Amino acid sequence: MTRLGVVIGLEVHAQLTTRTKLFCGCPVAFGGEPNTRVCPVCLGLPGALPVANREALRLAVRLSQAVGAKVHHVSQWARKNYFYPDLPKGYQISQYQRPLSSSGYLRVEPEGEPPRTIGIDRIHLEEDAGKSMHGSLGDETVSGIDFNRCGVALVEIVSAPVLRTPQEAYLYLERLRAVLRATGVSEADMQTGSLRCDANVSVHREGEPWGRRVEVKNVNSFRFVRRALAFEIDRQRATVARGGEVEHESRLWDEQRCETRPMRGKEELHDYRYFPEPDLPALVVSETLMAEAAHELPELPHARRDRLVRDSGLSVPDAHRLSSEPDLAEYFEQVVRVSRRPREAASWVLTELLGELNRRGLGIDQSPVSGEQLGELIQLVAANTISGKIAKRALALACETGRSPAEIVEQHGWRQISDQRLIEHICREIVEAHPEQVMAYRRGKSGLLGYFVSRVMARTSGQANPALVSQMLTRLLEGCSGGTGRE
Ligand code: ADP
Ligand code: MG
Ligand code: ZN
Repeated sequence: MTRLGVVIGLEVHAQLTTRTKLFCGCPVAFGGEPNTRVCPVCLGLPGALPVANREALRLAVRLSQAVGAKVHHVSQWARKNYFYPDLPKGYQISQYQRPLSSSGYLRVEPEGEPPRTIGIDRIHLEEDAGKSMHGSLGDETVSGIDFNRCGVALVEIVSAPVLRTPQEAYLYLERLRAVLRATGVSEADMQTGSLRCDANVSVHREGEPWGRRVEVKNVNSFRFVRRALAFEIDRQRATVARGGEVEHESRLWDEQRCETRPMRGKEELHDYRYFPEPDLPALVVSETLMAEAAHELPELPHARRDRLVRDSGLSVPDAHRLSSEPDLAEYFEQVVRVSRRPREAASWVLTELLGELNRRGLGIDQSPVSGEQLGELIQLVAANTISGKIAKRALALACETGRSPAEIVEQHGWRQISDQRLIEHICREIVEAHPEQVMAYRRGKSGLLGYFVSRVMARTSGQANPALVSQMLTRLLEGCSGGTGRE
């Protein structure tokens, strides 16, 4: 098969975290009784007029700044006309010829390859549509419409057609999600629909013009986007290899069958008859708003990651994981503020704490153990007050009971035994109780040291300082301090 070039571009919709909808005061929330958060404006009743939500604009400006896009001082609302049952006005208010911002970028870092800068062509604001729901009522199959989502504020982020592989698309989405969350612009959760992605892909012979793009819709996880793109690339390559032509169309990803298939009805043949929205004035972004948004911009995930690698000595994968979720990053920083040991903190958070939380189905924001408490626990280990093993036990119990791990250590008397005389006393007892093993050891079976250590540890419920125990046992077994024969 001739090598065919691949071109991918992503259109991402993210729901903004505004409390109210884009053009009315109806509250925004997920789920709930259908059609309870509606008003004449979002239901499109005659005579109702939209008023643009300032907070939505502020968030979209913040996002634009976060991805280095140029925010246009004046942009324009536009009507996108089409008929659909979940769209009561018969049009969506969006932006078209004059979007809020353009020419941004995100960097992706495919493993083992140089990083790439992926252009963002445009970012614009638009309102969401309602939701059709299909189910049964008694014996009848019914379709209903829930308008609660109708009019909710979205930003659309349109990438340039420059992604080359499904993996790059995946990394781009990860990076975008991290930025959306870190800036507080969107919860960016595909599960609840606050992040949605349409993936465009085409293939072409090297040196020839690009192929016709296929838009894959309805993909609801990043992994599915990657799979759907891989499938689509194979399908298009095979079509071209057969001498066929790829059609410009919208397709759906069918997760059950692991394939894309054409959407019923040629939805892409829509002519949206865009025109400037007559009910709204031009969208103006003042210098003040620009300055405020810039001021609100937090440290972005990749900057944080680089800082954690540079200043705290974390490995790149650890720093990456810790910085891609703002809640996790904040938690980690809190652990470090208390423990002052970033590397230990990273491993405790990523392995032990997340392990405990995952087992209980909890998110980091629901952790029963606070960052400060975990920091204290790490300090106890660092000061040799408890062993790592005991610390893990305390952490598990803390997650179970919601009590502080340090308190648990105290109450159970789990502090490590570092008292030389006490350790010597216990070691002597163990040595005296096992004369045969002592003989064997002295005849050269030095591996038996471990046998004695584990006995002392068991006797002390794991609390004896293992380094001191080994030292003491070696001394006793070598016989330098009189061995077993005490006069
Ligand atoms: P529409 O809204 O009609 O879908 P847009 O211009 O908003 O069109 O979005 C088109 C998307 O498709 C962009 O993300 C762009 O990068 C991508 N795209 C454009 N041309 C191609 C192509 N030949 N192959 C793959 N993707 C493409
Ligand atoms: Mg589109
Ligand atoms: Zn409303």
